[in-house]
Amino acid sequence: MSQTLLVSACLLGLLTRYDGQSKTNPKVLDYLQRHDLTPIPVCPEQLAGLSTPRPLTFFAAGSGPEVLDGSGKIVNTDRADMNNVFIKGAEQTLQIARLVGCKDALLKDGSPSCGVHRICRNGTRTAGQGITTALLQRSGLHTFSEEDL
Ligand code: SF4
Repeated sequence: MSQTLLVSACLLGLLTRYDGQSKTNPKVLDYLQRHDLTPIPVCPEQLAGLSTPRPLTFFAAGSGPEVLDGSGKIVNTDRADMNNVFIKGAEQTLQIARLVGCKDALLKDGSPSCGVHRICRNGTRTAGQGITTALLQRSGLHTFSEEDL
């Protein structure tokens, strides 16, 4: 079997985004084919038990690492605290990575779960990692985004 790569499900065409849409990325599909990789699709927010569609979420303080450490905060448009839900999604994603032996993850940039280089805080794009990305990095996985391809 070819090597596995954890991939944000929305990049593969799955309808997992908060708005019920996907973010199919031909560069991702091409990368998988060129490197003979078997994608393991994951959506941390669905793995957390959230519905699709679901309210938009964004950081009110910090980013992924700070949420894991307890000083950051992620909220939805109703201003509900989503920290524990998003941490659960990150932990479930890490569990899948361990089950299949993934050491690398290709994740959707800009997302509060999957962002690698940037996230959104109070309506502004800023540098930072999503909560799942931060947990995967801390657990020794190499992460990169579709913007690195
Ligand atoms: S949580 Fe990640 S995989 Fe799920 S829709 Fe958002 S960016 Fe895509």
